Amino acid sequence: MPLSRDLFLGFVRMHILYHAGEEPVYGVWLIEELARHGYALSPGTLYPMLHSLEDEGMLRRERRVVKGKVRKYYTLTEDGRIALDEGRKRAVELLREISPGSLRVADEAWDKA
Ligand SMILES: [Zn+2]
Repeated sequence: MPLSRDLFLGFVRMHILYHAGEEPVYGVWLIEELARHGYALSPGTLYPMLHSLEDEGMLRRERRVVKGKVRKYYTLTEDGRIALDEGRKRAVELLREISPGSLRVADEAWDKA
């Protein structure tokens, strides 16, 4: 059974915030990156999501010309950074409950450091 749509969209939003915080991203790149993670995302789902993240002040849009084509790049804003950090904390907290084994290795590495 596929992941329910609200969970799917929540995970996708976290991926977008994370990647936009690493470097400016654009639609086609995100679709390919999310496919690598196993998320099949259509432009009809991605672009409205990018626009609402922009409306919410999480992403900043910027037009750049690449090889003669105008491309819209998205970068994480300061509010987006705060939301990403909060989401990351909640994701870790959730994993501690639903998948404790997945964090054990990270915790052990942390204890040794
Ligand atoms: Zn990724």
